[in-house]
Amino acid sequence: MRIAIQDVTPETDYAEIIGWVHEIRDLGGLAFFIVRDRTGLIQVTIPKKKAPEAVVEAAKEVSRESVVRVAGTVKAIEKAPGGRELVPEELEIVSLAASPLPLDVAEKVSAEMDTRIDSRFLDVRKPRVGAIFFIRSVAVRAINEFLFSRGFINITTPKVVAAATEGGTELFPIAYFEKEAFLNQSPQLYKQMMMAAGCEKVFEIGPIFRAEEHNTVRHLNEATSLDVEVSFADHNDVMQLLEDLIIAVYRRVTEDCADQLATLGVDLTVPATPFPRISYAEAIEIANRTVPEKISFGDDLGTAAEKAIGEYIGQHYFIVDWPTAIKPYYAMPYPENPELSKAFDMMHPRMELSSGAQRIHQHDLLVEQIRAKGLSPESFEFYLKTFEYGMPPHAGWGLGVERLIMTMLNLPNIREAVLFPRDRHRLTP
Ligand code: ATP
Ligand code: MG
Repeated sequence: MRIAIQDVTPETDYAEIIGWVHEIRDLGGLAFFIVRDRTGLIQVTIPKKKAPEAVVEAAKEVSRESVVRVAGTVKAIEKAPGGRELVPEELEIVSLAASPLPLDVAEKVSAEMDTRIDSRFLDVRKPRVGAIFFIRSVAVRAINEFLFSRGFINITTPKVVAAATEGGTELFPIAYFEKEAFLNQSPQLYKQMMMAAGCEKVFEIGPIFRAEEHNTVRHLNEATSLDVEVSFADHNDVMQLLEDLIIAVYRRVTEDCADQLATLGVDLTVPATPFPRISYAEAIEIANRTVPEKISFGDDLGTAAEKAIGEYIGQHYFIVDWPTAIKPYYAMPYPENPELSKAFDMMHPRMELSSGAQRIHQHDLLVEQIRAKGLSPESFEFYLKTFEYGMPPHAGWGLGVERLIMTMLNLPNIREAVLFPRDRHRLTP
């Protein structure tokens, strides 16, 4: 019976494993393979004179990254990975790999991101890369468990839509029979409509599509968004929820992914709480102390500003009280000062992770704000209708899953945090 490589210990007598040939070393009388499965590595040692003939024959033929089945006795040996080696009685080539490999899985030769993505299936075989996606899976599971424990229900909303969420040009048009349609840039309108449907607390983890022209290390054209919406809550309530969620995810990853973090060389610490909250006005003041191009009230915070503020604060933080003019039409203005809105961004020192707000739940105010942005209420009819028949007050946010993973693991490029990135120049694999 086949067992996982990590379950073969120096005390094991006999083991059968299946894995990929990570390395091959032939020292004449002795051949060494390192075999890898998703749980670890093991040395397979073949003394050519003593080994069964079939084993020696298979060993001659096998190439790196072939799938092999190995069965034999286990010996404790200090120098080998995991303190043990496997001496095969049987060695079967299950699936022979062609040579040369398009990518070196053993990472003796490092490769550019593009080459790696071209052969992503091989890239993910690298323990370091595999660790990222194991951690991502644990993080997504932690998000689900956290939100279910808080009484949320999971929803799925359409990705093919007729209208833009926020207008603008960041949309991919698609052909939908005889109509024009778009890939959705955000589930915003739909999660709000679920508030009108009486669901109270909803979340979705799904793709968002942004036709952003620029190629950066923190933008994808198809990203994964965790979207949350809560009824009878304001911006402060959902900021607290977001902070609690980040802590829950970091805790779970530190607890359940010790091996993967070690493989990545990441020393993960749970962020300190509470996350500092600074106003947009304070944020531009901090940025203006160091950035060369001064920011005026009402400007967006660019990359340089985000970096300057992040360096100054040095941990996760919120930027609150944004000018209404630069936040989406659905953000709730402060009644006593409608120039500012109950909108926030949650930041990692390196970049924005999330944007959220208390939403406008009053139909007429919403129509007014849509018009103020130069958009036409007619194209939002299906959405606006839900505000006329008992829309509760509500608030929510959207968090980029890839950015969460990227910042948590200190990855240099967002493409490291997604299996098959979609960017300005890439549609395959
Ligand atoms: P940025 O200003 O950094 O481009 P944004 O403000 O346009 O982001 P939002 O519309 O606020 O993004 O989306 C909410 C969250 O979704 C962002 O904070 C980010 O984590 C994630 N996100 C948005 N667009 C992208 C993208 N193109 N690639 C990866 N993640 C994204
Ligand atoms: Mg944003």
